[in-house]
Amino acid sequence: MQKSSMSFLFLGLVLIGPNLPASAFLWEHTEESQGHDGTLWANISGEPSANAANLPYAFAECAIGAHQSPIAINVTSNPTPISVNPKTQSPDNNPPAERERHVNSLTVRYTPSTSTIEGPAFATDEKNVYVFRNTGHAVQVSFSPGYSGTLLIGKDVYPLVQLHFHTPSEHIVVTDHYPAGKQFAGELHFVHQRDDGRLAVLGVLLDDSHGSTGTNPILQKIIDYTPHDHDTYNKTGADQWLDPSRLIPADDPHVYAYAGSLTTPPCSEGVSWYVVSEPLKVAPAQIKKLEAFFPANSRVVQNTATRTVEIHNHLHVDQDQNPNRHDGHHRRR
Ligand SMILES: [Zn+2]
Repeated sequence: MQKSSMSFLFLGLVLIGPNLPASAFLWEHTEESQGHDGTLWANISGEPSANAANLPYAFAECAIGAHQSPIAINVTSNPTPISVNPKTQSPDNNPPAERERHVNSLTVRYTPSTSTIEGPAFATDEKNVYVFRNTGHAVQVSFSPGYSGTLLIGKDVYPLVQLHFHTPSEHIVVTDHYPAGKQFAGELHFVHQRDDGRLAVLGVLLDDSHGSTGTNPILQKIIDYTPHDHDTYNKTGADQWLDPSRLIPADDPHVYAYAGSLTTPPCSEGVSWYVVSEPLKVAPAQIKKLEAFFPANSRVVQNTATRTVEIHNHLHVDQDQNPNRHDGHHRRR
């Protein structure tokens, strides 16, 4: 880790304070928490061996946490654990994913929204709006407090606060065909946060192979209007209609569920992860456009240790929601 990034880090810790609830600045990739140049991010995503050393106190979970994300998801029926994590090359358990034991239904209830060019003011807007945001580490769509889209986990309601992209994919999938794990071209994360701060992330893998040359129109809209300058919001592209549920692959996919963490500092644990089994098909040119923003903004897979991945049989996607419905909740974006 370079000295310049360390000084940014310590400045950040002073500004944030290590005792603030992690959810206060999760996923926002602010300058205060990560440094202007992204050096910390590069170290964490690129060099697993460097994770352990020199991380300040507040980011210690990245290095020593036992429930970190992403992971390799083993969907073979092979009962023999994989002895070496394919990415970190360290011993890992990677047991086969199991059928769900808790019968919690999963329902995506995202509503359409329209974009605003009001920049940071979206965070207090009680209307149903969103912004295109370059966080400095990811291409992101952030929704206003007036947005009513949710993920239902059983009876628990998790409001959608933002979605963002990684290239290549963070999770890899171990299959009979890919015993060392298949990494996809990209990964989309829908980030949901309850009022009590608890997080649930729905991950969708992006596939630009298998003749999927068709352009995904929603991803294209996001690519076209997200600014290229770091830590900025869109200044054009007002009133763009966007239905996030159309970024969920159809065909009633399975969902892999496990307990994990944020994949960016501070790597806080207690995040409920749901990774959709079917990838979303996107055009190779769209992946190249995402890489033009951030060539590699994915963290390497972490050991599963004692964790189990459970397979949910269904992901319900409601697409008949009233876009004017408003539950009046207030949340950070
Ligand atoms: Zn992410």
